[in-house]
Amino acid sequence: MITNPIPWPDGARCAVAMTWDMDADSAFNWYNKETADTLVAAQSWTRYDPLIAIPRLVEQFASRELRLTFFVPGWVIEKYPGQIDLLVEHGHEIALHGYLHERSNEIGKDDELYWFDRGLDAYKSHLGKGPRGWRAPSFAFSKHSLHALLDAGIEYDSSLMGDDIPYALRDGGSNRSLLEFPTDWTLDDFPHYAHNRDLGYRMPISAPQRAMEVFRSEFDAAWEFGALWISVWHPALSGRLARFKAVLELLDYMRHKGGVWFARLDQICDHVQQLIAAGRWTPRVETLPIYDSPLPEFSKTR
Ligand SMILES: [Zn+2]
Repeated sequence: MITNPIPWPDGARCAVAMTWDMDADSAFNWYNKETADTLVAAQSWTRYDPLIAIPRLVEQFASRELRLTFFVPGWVIEKYPGQIDLLVEHGHEIALHGYLHERSNEIGKDDELYWFDRGLDAYKSHLGKGPRGWRAPSFAFSKHSLHALLDAGIEYDSSLMGDDIPYALRDGGSNRSLLEFPTDWTLDDFPHYAHNRDLGYRMPISAPQRAMEVFRSEFDAAWEFGALWISVWHPALSGRLARFKAVLELLDYMRHKGGVWFARLDQICDHVQQLIAAGRWTPRVETLPIYDSPLPEFSKTR
């Protein structure tokens, strides 16, 4: 099923990176600039993430000796430094997720670079070095993003959805490249759980069992065919009691099945870079931008 299978460490059948996007109240403030101060219930809903869910996740994953990648906007690092320190102390990776959860492909190149730099500065000033990984807020990766990531020395992105295993993104202008660790909407918890009338989220709320059915099916296929399974979960959603209980049950299921390499994305990055350097595996390469402008076919010039 996978034409360019990648060898995982110790003969593992698949790799699992249970990643979390710790948005806290960044996106909420970005999208509600004029009214955020009046939406107190919505504030409390978004702040459940750093105040309640993060300590819960840290405790439960520590007892299961699981270390994960958390994508965090720079503003959230500044606003909740204690939670970032807690994650780092427990061996989790902090990767960058914008500054205020801006949508890079909606704000123009100059603004994109401005907010990207603010995010980088926030990351570096708290963590003392630059991030290795990036996920575009709202998956809004722009046609300028790859260049900016490469300039910042970022080694991997996890915003795109173009494969089942790692691949490489090459910047057509400079010929530099980085690794892409793709995910998919099937592994995002937003479509199942995001319902908040103040914020305009109107998803019908899934039972955790229904959401896990989707995540588990994706895992079973990844295990069967040797893929990379990356969840995109949010502490404000999947960190709530019933849903997080289901996450832990899914983890038990994966461990019981066996042959799974559980890893942070920086560890997967190390592994893939080593495979490439040793000539043991070559990634498929995709050159960006895919299109530099709207298709000429739409210009009605014929
Ligand atoms: Zn996010």
